[in-house]
Amino acid sequence: MEVLYNSTRSKKNPVKASEAILKGLSDDGGLFVPDHIPALDKSLKELSDMSYQQVAYEVMKLFFTDFTEEELKNCINKAYDEKFDTEVIAPLVEAQGAYYLELFHGSTIAFKDMALSILPHLLITSARKNKIKNEIVILTATSGDTGKAALAGFAGVEGTRIIVFYPKNGVSPIQEKQMVTQKGDNTFVVGIHGNFDDAQTGVKKIFSDKELAKEMDGKGFQFSSANSINIGRLVPQVCYYVYAYAKLLSEGKIAEGETINVVVPTGNFGNILAAFYAKNMGLPIGKLICASNDNKVLYDFFRTGTYDRNREFVLTTSPSMDILISSNLERLIYRIAGNDADKNKELMTALSGQGKYEITEDMKQGLKDFYGNYASEQETAAEIARLYESCGYVLDTHTAVASAVYGKYVKETGDSTKTVIASTASPFKFTRSVMNAIDAKYDAMGDFELVDELSKIANVKVPAAIEEIRTAPVVHDHQCEVDEMKKVVKEFLGI
Ligand SMILES: *Cc1c(COP(=O)(O)O)cnc(C)c1O
Repeated sequence: MEVLYNSTRSKKNPVKASEAILKGLSDDGGLFVPDHIPALDKSLKELSDMSYQQVAYEVMKLFFTDFTEEELKNCINKAYDEKFDTEVIAPLVEAQGAYYLELFHGSTIAFKDMALSILPHLLITSARKNKIKNEIVILTATSGDTGKAALAGFAGVEGTRIIVFYPKNGVSPIQEKQMVTQKGDNTFVVGIHGNFDDAQTGVKKIFSDKELAKEMDGKGFQFSSANSINIGRLVPQVCYYVYAYAKLLSEGKIAEGETINVVVPTGNFGNILAAFYAKNMGLPIGKLICASNDNKVLYDFFRTGTYDRNREFVLTTSPSMDILISSNLERLIYRIAGNDADKNKELMTALSGQGKYEITEDMKQGLKDFYGNYASEQETAAEIARLYESCGYVLDTHTAVASAVYGKYVKETGDSTKTVIASTASPFKFTRSVMNAIDAKYDAMGDFELVDELSKIANVKVPAAIEEIRTAPVVHDHQCEVDEMKKVVKEFLGI
C-alpha cells in the first residue's frame, strides 16, 4: 500500500516519499509525516536471519513506496559499506544487564552516520525521479554531530552543496575540529555567535523565505534539509531498532515476540521517534524511555503535559542533547492530536510565540508508551565511572545519560524487561569529559594525549575518524552573528 506524506501543519495535498525527502520541510513550515505507519511484512524470525542491509531494505521499502527495489537497494549498498568499521554495522554489546546498541561505527563515530550516510543517495535519487535540474543546497544547523556527519555524507556528491551552521562555543573541541577540517569544494562551515536553538531557528527562517527561494531558483539552486526533520533521516533510523531486535532473537537472548524496552538519549527527538515508529510497525517494544540531560524540557513535558522552553539553556558535557526545542516532537504531537493539523499548528504557534504550550488530557493518553527522566552532570559522570570500573566498558557522555536514566527507571518501576540502550557516540568523540569522569587526574593532559590514554584503558583502537583529524589542516574559519546567516548563505552561493 502506498505511503504518502502529509504536513503536520495543514491539510494540503499529500506528497510522495521522494518529494518529501527533496523538500525536507513542508512549505507551511510543518514536518512531513507518513499518512499511516506500515506494518512489518516479514516475521521477526525471518528478519533475524538478515544482514543490516537486508533489514534496512525491509523497513525502508514500506515507507519509501515510490522508490523501485533497485533504487532503494542501490542507496542502501552505497551507504552501509566499508565506511563502517564493522560488517554488522550496528553491534550490540551486553554490559551490566543491558544491551548497548552501538550506533557509532560510521565515518564520524556518532549515530547521525546511520541516517546521513544514506540521505545523500536518497536525495539524489529523489531529484532524478522528480526531474529536478537545480543544484541541491543542503542547509543544516548542528549541535555538533549532525554537521560532521552531513558534511561527510555530502562532500564531493555531484549536484549538491552543503552549508553547516554550528554554535561557535557550544560543541566539543573534537566535534569542531572534525567540521572545520572538512575537505570538499561543495562544503561550507560557519560558527555562529549563538546557541544551537539560534542556529536551528535561523535555518528554519531561511527555509521558509519564499523570496529567497525564488531568487535561488533563478540561479539554479534549491534548498533541502539534512536535519533530523527530513523524513529521509527518520526512516533509516527505524531500521536499527528492528535490526537490534532481530539480533537479540537470533542470538537467543529473547524469545520471538518477547517485549523489549528501549532507552534513547534525546535531543531533537528524532532517534526516539524512530523507535516509536518501529513499535507502531509491530516491533514488540514496551516502554520508550526518553533520557535528557540538564536541559530537561522533555522530562517536564512527559510529567506535566506542558512543553515550556522558557528556561535557562545549560551547556553540558552531552552537547548534542543541549536543545530546548525538540523539532521532531511535533510529529508526535500531531499524532496524539489525532492527526489534527489545525490543533498541532495552534500548539506550534504558541511555542514560537510564548515559548510554551499545553496538551489536552486526551492527548496525554497518547504518551503512555513513553517514560521520561534526566541525568544531571554528576550522575552522568558517575555512570561512566560505574560502567568502567565494573566491567571496563567505556560509554560516551550521551550514552551515559541514557544509561543513568535507565538505572532510575528500573529503581522506580522494578521493570526487568530486557532493554536496549541506544549508544549514540563513541567515547573518543567526547574524550575529555569521558576521561575526567573516570579520573580527575586526566584533566592535565592534552586532547590527543587523552585519546591515546582512552585507547589504552578501554582497550579499543583509536577510530580512524580521530586519527584523521590529528594532523588535518583547518580549512573553514568563518564566523557570523545570528542575524547574518542569510547573508552568509547568499555569499557562499554567489547570488
Ligand atoms: C544527535 C545526538 C543525540 C540526540 O538525538 P536526537 O535524535 O536529536 O534526539 C544524542 N546523542 C548523540 C551523540 C547525538 O549526536
